[in-house]
Amino acid sequence: MKIFETKQALQDFIDEHRSKNTLIGFVPTMGALHEGHLSLIEKSKQHGAATVCSIFVNPTQFNDPKDFEKYPKTLEEDIQKLELAGCEALFLPSVEEMYPEGMQQLPHYSLGRLEELWEGAHRPGHFQGVCVIVHRLLEAVRPDLLLMGSKDFQQVAVIRYLLAHYSFEPNMELIPCETIREASGLAMSSRNVRLSPEQKIQALAIYHGFDMIRMAIFEQKTRETEVLEQQFAQQLLDAGFESVDYIAFADPFSLEPITDLSQTFVVLVAASIGGVRLIDNQLFPHELFKRV
Ligand code: AMP
Repeated sequence: MKIFETKQALQDFIDEHRSKNTLIGFVPTMGALHEGHLSLIEKSKQHGAATVCSIFVNPTQFNDPKDFEKYPKTLEEDIQKLELAGCEALFLPSVEEMYPEGMQQLPHYSLGRLEELWEGAHRPGHFQGVCVIVHRLLEAVRPDLLLMGSKDFQQVAVIRYLLAHYSFEPNMELIPCETIREASGLAMSSRNVRLSPEQKIQALAIYHGFDMIRMAIFEQKTRETEVLEQQFAQQLLDAGFESVDYIAFADPFSLEPITDLSQTFVVLVAASIGGVRLIDNQLFPHELFKRV
C-alpha cells in the first residue's frame, strides 16, 4: 500500500490509475479502524476499484473539544489492517494540508433541514465540518465510488445532499454500506474502545430497543411512535445510559419525523454511557410489516 501525505502526491497516483481506466473507490475515515471500516474497503474492492482510504481526525467536525482530544489513534495497527485488506493507497494528510488557510473562515454549506434535525440539532456545526472535509477530500481523490457506512445514517443523507447540490464529478456514486456489528449486536465504532466490558454489555440496550420496536409492531401492541420512543428511552436509562439525546422515528431520506409506521422508516438513536456518546440506527422496511 502506498502512503501519501500531500494532495499532490496522491494526485499522481490517482492520475496513473485513471489513465488505465481503473475505477477509484474512496473510503474516508478518522482512523482507529475496525471491521466496519474494513467492510467499506472490501465493498470497494468487490466493485473492482483501486481503493483509497483516508485517515484524518477532522478538527472542524468536533463540537466537543474533549471528544476531539480523546479520539483514539492507532495508526500502526490501522496501516497493518489496510495492508491486509488489500487497500491500494492511504491518504494521511496533516491539518495544514487540509486547512492551509486555517480553520477560522470556512465555507458555509446550506443543508436545509438536515442540519436542524437530530445530530444537526445536538452537535452544532458538526455537519458543516463534515461537509468541508468531505468536499476537500473528494476534490483531492475525485473517486468514482464513495463508500460510507449507514451506521452514520444522517451523515450519508448529508453527503447525498452535498453531492446533489454542489458541483462534483458527475458520475461519482455514493454507496451506503450496512452497519457491521459485534456478535453481540453492538454497532462497531472507534469510540467503543472507551467503553469498559460492562458498559459494552449495557450498551446493548440500543440493539435490544430495536427488537422491542419490531416486536411491538408484530404483536400489534402499539404503533404510537411517542409511546415507543418513551419506552426505548426508559430502557436505555434503566440499562445504565446517563442521557438520551434522541430516539427518532424518521423518513429514511428526508429524516423528517414520521408517525405513520406503515411506510419504511428508520429509528435513529443517540445516547451516552460512561461519557461516551453512541449513535446507532435501524431501518424498518415496510415489507416487514405488510401482513401485520
Ligand atoms: P469514522 O472513522 O467513524 O469517521 O467512519 C468512517 C466511515 O466508516 C464512515 O463512513 C462510517 O459510517 C463508517 N463506519 C463506522 N462504523 C461502521 C460500522 N460499524 N459499520 C459500517 N461502517 C461503519
